[in-house]
Amino acid sequence: MNISVIGAGQMGNGIAHVFAQNGHQVTLIDIAQAGLDKGLSTIGKNLDRQVAKGVLTEAQKQETLARIATNTDLSAGVKQAELVVEAATENVDLKLKIFKDLDTNAPKGCILATNTSSISITRIAASTVRPDQVIGMHFMNPVPVMKLVEIIRGYDTSDAVTKTVVDLSTAIGKVPVTVNDYAGFVANRILMPMINEAIETLFQGVGGVAEIDSIMKLGMAHPMGPLQLADFIGLDTCVAILRVLHEGLGNPKYAPCPLLVQMVTAGKLGAKAGEGFYQYTAGNKDLVVAPAFR
Ligand code: NAD
Repeated sequence: MNISVIGAGQMGNGIAHVFAQNGHQVTLIDIAQAGLDKGLSTIGKNLDRQVAKGVLTEAQKQETLARIATNTDLSAGVKQAELVVEAATENVDLKLKIFKDLDTNAPKGCILATNTSSISITRIAASTVRPDQVIGMHFMNPVPVMKLVEIIRGYDTSDAVTKTVVDLSTAIGKVPVTVNDYAGFVANRILMPMINEAIETLFQGVGGVAEIDSIMKLGMAHPMGPLQLADFIGLDTCVAILRVLHEGLGNPKYAPCPLLVQMVTAGKLGAKAGEGFYQYTAGNKDLVVAPAFR
């Protein structure tokens, strides 16, 4: 299949990687060449890791890379697409604009999927004249490792499009689970209030960063504490998702904790920015609590 992926960030490069590894031709699209270069370099490193583990051969790595083209021009990059998966920044206005552009430039039968964590699929679909061909395809982070794809049907998504996307997800080794379209769907409707509550618990001084994460890891058998997970997702993305839940479901319990909002304002976006609740230095695998919380 010819697949275009919009956005070469954390999620987009992982999505491109998995499709290309499974034999699909991928065009990875971002606004700037620097973003594409960074995305390709991450894919290369992740493929190296798979080769070292014996999951892939060196030849399969090279074939995977050869299946990925890049483009900074959306209209040119989707001309041949049979499926587009949009994984740009979590911002409603940006996604509405991208889908309007996709509707104009992608071939008529092309399915338009979004990897949004929380934004209404129905709302995104309404910015196109093909709402029956718009669907949520919510991969988990890191994409090459995590099995789940949350498939979200919008109000008008057709049965045929849902079946194609479910079958495709299975064929690339993932486990699709289909749900309906309300703010946050299932995954983030349950995950984000937990992360927000962990931040509120820190904000109120009930426990420190290490204590909160240890309690959730050891007590609930979570592989990662909620504060480390927030850093990993990106604190800007967490705020964006909580705002969608707050607005979409109208309950004040979803309002992002003031500490989370302040950290995003200060540019402490988590692992991708080098600092969030923890501090990340290249080459250091140990978890180090950020100076603000020591
Ligand atoms: P990111 O910040 O790592 O990457 C976003 C990328 O989108 C950047 O490279 C940016 O340059 C690019 N971009 C912005 N505007 C663009 C445009 N007009 N055209 C093309 N590219 C554009 O973000 P991310 O974590 O990869 O998140 C991307 C999407 O995936 C969001 O909708 C997010 O909610 C969703 N998501 C994130 C996670 C996670 O754990 N981070 C998990 C599941 C889903």
